[in-house]
Amino acid sequence: MTTTRTTCPYCGVGCGVSATVTGARSVEIKGDAAHPANGGRLCSKGTHLGETVGLGGRLLTPKMYGEEASWDATLDAVAKGFADTIAEHGPDSVAFYVSGQLLTEDYYVANKLMKGFIGSSNIDTNSRLCMASAVAAHNRAFGEDVVPCNYEDLEAADLIVLVGSNTAWCHPIVWQRIEAARAARGTKLVVVDPRRTETAEGADLHLAIRPDGDIALFNGLLAAMRDRGLVDEDYLAAHVDVPEGFWEQIGAANVAEQSGVSPEALAQFIELFAAHPRTVTLFSQGANQSVCGTDKGNAIVNLHLATGRIGKAGMGPFSITGQPNAMGGREVGGLASMLAVHMGFSAEERDRCQRFWDSPTMVQGPGMKAVDMFRAVHDGRIKAIWIMATNPAVSMPDAGFVREALEKCPLVVVSDVMASTDTAAYAHIHLPALAWAEKDGTVTNSERMISRQRRFFDAPGEARADWDIIADVGRRMGHARAFAWPNAAAVFREYCAQTAFENNGARKLDLSAWAELSDADYDALKPMRWGGPSPFADKRFTTPSGRARMMAVQPPAAPVADPAYPFRLNTSRYRDHWHTMTRTALSPRLSQHRREPLVEVHPQDAAALGIEDGGLARVTTAQGEAVFRVALSEGQRPGELCVPMHWTDQISAGGRANRLPNQNADPVSGQPGFKNSAAAIEPVTPEWTGFLVTRDQPALHDIAYWTLVRQRSGWLTELAGFGEPDIAALLPPGARIEAIDAVRGARRYAVLGEDGRLAAALFLTRSGKLPPRDWIAGQLDAEDAAHGPALLAGRPAQLPPDRGAIICVCFDVGMKTILHAIADQNLTSVEAVGSALNAGTNCGSCRPAIKSLLQEQRETVSAA
Ligand code: SF4
Repeated sequence: MTTTRTTCPYCGVGCGVSATVTGARSVEIKGDAAHPANGGRLCSKGTHLGETVGLGGRLLTPKMYGEEASWDATLDAVAKGFADTIAEHGPDSVAFYVSGQLLTEDYYVANKLMKGFIGSSNIDTNSRLCMASAVAAHNRAFGEDVVPCNYEDLEAADLIVLVGSNTAWCHPIVWQRIEAARAARGTKLVVVDPRRTETAEGADLHLAIRPDGDIALFNGLLAAMRDRGLVDEDYLAAHVDVPEGFWEQIGAANVAEQSGVSPEALAQFIELFAAHPRTVTLFSQGANQSVCGTDKGNAIVNLHLATGRIGKAGMGPFSITGQPNAMGGREVGGLASMLAVHMGFSAEERDRCQRFWDSPTMVQGPGMKAVDMFRAVHDGRIKAIWIMATNPAVSMPDAGFVREALEKCPLVVVSDVMASTDTAAYAHIHLPALAWAEKDGTVTNSERMISRQRRFFDAPGEARADWDIIADVGRRMGHARAFAWPNAAAVFREYCAQTAFENNGARKLDLSAWAELSDADYDALKPMRWGGPSPFADKRFTTPSGRARMMAVQPPAAPVADPAYPFRLNTSRYRDHWHTMTRTALSPRLSQHRREPLVEVHPQDAAALGIEDGGLARVTTAQGEAVFRVALSEGQRPGELCVPMHWTDQISAGGRANRLPNQNADPVSGQPGFKNSAAAIEPVTPEWTGFLVTRDQPALHDIAYWTLVRQRSGWLTELAGFGEPDIAALLPPGARIEAIDAVRGARRYAVLGEDGRLAAALFLTRSGKLPPRDWIAGQLDAEDAAHGPALLAGRPAQLPPDRGAIICVCFDVGMKTILHAIADQNLTSVEAVGSALNAGTNCGSCRPAIKSLLQEQRETVSAA
């Protein structure tokens, strides 16, 4: 058994992972104790990576027009398709849509091919959807996309302000570091978020702002600091350009009203901020995914520049990225709005880049950002697109429009690890890429830490590394010398050399120290952070003047009310799922925390509309509609809804959230505003509901609502519909037992396979209750499985207690089990719950939820 040190492929925290291979495709996963980002900790997603490395569903051979083909024929077709399109329609008629899942080496090769050899900047990345506004804010304020902080600053801070970040769910190891700092030194925590999330539950102060109320809030806070004499005038005079009339323009009137927080809460925030100079303001997708996301970023940066809270330990504005290598893509230049290695498109920069690459066809200016790129595909300006490691048919806003665009596009090439994705359905050419466990390269996390991702499984089938596939196409397009790297290490050296080329201190991104690494040194590379712990400690910014820039940003106008769409719709992410679930849905454990996509509704709104907790509801916008399970939540502001972005057509009918937002984007960054759409909601009352457990993945057609959840030994499908369900289509062949209750309209079926074991069970009802799913799903692999009347009764002779929704996926502990233990054993702390039930004692991702349950119980007791 060998152990490989690699990096988690999910979020931008960038945790180190120790992977010990235990079989052909099995691996034991642990946190890498030596990695500075996580010190051995992993969240639930990282902990269960081992459940996602099988070969089920993988694409293992290239395909052209649905037929398997050789790499030679396929890559010839890609190269010819792109070359012919460019020859006939020019370089801007083609595009690459890439991903924060790619490694830095992949990004580098794709960027070089598009900008230096095709001669277009039409390469953009799904990171555009994630943090492009933070990039734009950094560029405006600092002259370069530099993140000023690192994770140790969170431990040195006295006050942490989280803006638009459900850190406990989306960056759980950063959250654990924050919690540890709070326990050790009493760090204060303020959470700015319209929703009372598990993160907000644990804060000293939660500011439930109205959507896009951030700019008013931070402008107001800055004005208050000035009124109190807390602006660092010396720092401003020496190091920051403040535009003429700045203080008049930011305005500070009506802050509470414009931001949506109460005057009392605002006053508390001002007191906390004034009292704690060592402040880190961490912001994430909730701030960035907005039509004014860049201004939000600058409102936060303004505050830190004006108070001199930057460039010192424990302070600074800290944008945290969603994806594992969003930062690597930004560094390389994988955004259409950047050239390469933090350079823009000035004549001098283009010339420098062209000489470094020795390229024949240098791009002239920025290209199309993601939303515009798919608009151009839709209207025929782009005629060939290569999509790598991402699923825009699900993840883009107004995703139905993206599907129409791909349907019309003459050439769609998709590189992916999975055979069936919503986007792959539109591919003319489908290329098998290596997955996480098979890839070699580097990623950069949110704190500028570059870490190695190392392979521990051999390449399966004919899958190849993304950089290698792109380089091969570059050679076939006539650029043999420029795309001739022997390995990923050689690509990395060239990238590092480019950051250093004629840099002379003009850009903080300078990796010259690694430009001569040997292959062996690259293999052994330890995590390293560029820019040092605090890149602005020298008080020098990479603007032409060397001074930072404050930006006079204004709150946006309130959206025009539309009676047809009276709600504001937010989109969010779940603790145990990642993006479009192509990997996390492979894990039975990760699939238990949230089995269905939920629309969270305030009880007051639900009551007014006849929407019931646990029922179904249709959310509609001008772009489309989707159906979700209802979860009533006091944590929602009245008049606002929230749905998760993860579900796809592969695992649900109609649960895709990103078909709902419109294409409006931030005018500076091009980042779409996913989190504030006009929407309507109405109850859906199906004629029947039910569920199906099956050993094999079922085929599901013409059913109004279904969601598919992987179980330890099969699948669980939630169902609802109208008319007569087609039982024969739902059940696999085999000996069938049935029980019909005509009075309640209940029908129950069990199917035995040829081996005599349970192959499927279907429970349907028109008016009654359905039995608990867990016991029935467990019969698929139970030693003494119930098959007959006991199964159709939906319960064993000895009914096990109902555990409720699973909170701790590591130890399979449900909410009701925890609540009972708290009440019966008088448990008062997360540690006590851990001792009693094990819950929360492994990865720790469920600790915030346990804390909330303890609080809930305390409130229940005191109310009684
Ligand atoms: Fe992976 Fe979780 Fe660490 Fe993010 S916090 S890198 S998902 S283990």
